[in-house]
Order: sequence, then C-alpha cells, then structure tokens
Amino acid sequence: MDVVDRACHLETAQRQQAIDNQRARQNDKQRAKQNDRQCVHKPPLERAGVRVCLDCHNPINPARLCALPQSVRCVECQQIYESQ
Ligand SMILES: [Zn+2]
Repeated sequence: MDVVDRACHLETAQRQQAIDNQRARQNDKQRAKQNDRQCVHKPPLERAGVRVCLDCHNPINPARLCALPQSVRCVECQQIYESQ
C-alpha cells in the first residue's frame, strides 16, 4: 500500500464516521420528539418512577401524594389551578 492508497483509505474512513455521527444525531432528535409525544398523551406525568406536576413538571411532594394519591399537580400549581 502506498501513500496515496493510505490517504484514500483514511479519507473514506473519516467520511464514513462523519456520516455515522450525523445519523446518530438524527436518531437522537427523532427519539426526543417521540418522548415529547408520549409525555403529552400520558398524564399524570411520571419521571423515573416519580410523579411529576402536570403544569410545572417538578416532582410532587411524596407527602402530598400520600394524602392525595390522585394528585396530578404540586401544591403551588393546584392552588393556581383552583383559583382560576
Ligand atoms: Zn407544579
């Protein structure tokens, strides 16, 4: 293998890697979009097994969930919701 061959192989390998990187990025974007869609259609929201507020997406106080297992909002957002 001479220098030109080696350069050609190197270029091909780098181009292939760039294409792979680009594909991986597109897959990530697509996966993020799908996750968004799932969240919208799955209230009450849960993140890593923790119930999160429907409005602010912060974890709901476990004591609140214990007292009101059907809570879909944190105390603050529930108050805002009820005052509307
Ligand atoms: Zn909230």
